[in-house]
Amino acid sequence: MQKDNKIKIAVSSCLLGEAVRYDGTDKHIDYITGQLSKEYTLISLCPEMAIGMGVPRAPIHLVDNGKRIDAVGVEDSENNVTDALLQYGKSIQQSHPDICGYIFKKNSPSCGPAKVKVMVPETGIYEPRGQGVYVSAIRKYFPGLPVIDEEDLLDVRIMNEFINKVAKFSKLKNFVAWNYDYKNKNH
Ligand code: SF4
Repeated sequence: MQKDNKIKIAVSSCLLGEAVRYDGTDKHIDYITGQLSKEYTLISLCPEMAIGMGVPRAPIHLVDNGKRIDAVGVEDSENNVTDALLQYGKSIQQSHPDICGYIFKKNSPSCGPAKVKVMVPETGIYEPRGQGVYVSAIRKYFPGLPVIDEEDLLDVRIMNEFINKVAKFSKLKNFVAWNYDYKNKNH
């Protein structure tokens, strides 16, 4: 199969072995760069690098500010990168409109899809109830996009569910595109 015909799946860059984490390390997962890369075109995306945070960088965390959950510096709460991460998530619609799934890095304040720790300022306690700020934008601009984190990916049952959802999402996307072309040509 031609590479261009493969279904596209976006992946948090650190899971592909890129040393883009705040401390200059990666979280490489062999299964992704091995087996999955043969069957899918993998799109490497690191939102924190994309908004210019660089490596190494001061770590950020999620803070519940009442009206919304913000991504701010752990040491410097004035360093608020929420809007930049949301804007970058929106831009993926233009740069990669054809992704059919996303493998995210668990627990990240940018990329974690669920149960990310959120700090409550009144108590100073972290509650595992958030999603990464960037993930929230991806979900908003790619409704129904199948997502998974690297831990669930190593559970065969959950991984198979994800792969099936990716295939269905791709078929639906192709059908919608074909239908749109057909109507434009015939009206
Ligand atoms: S979790 Fe996301 S933001 Fe953090 S290093 Fe990995 S790709 Fe970049």
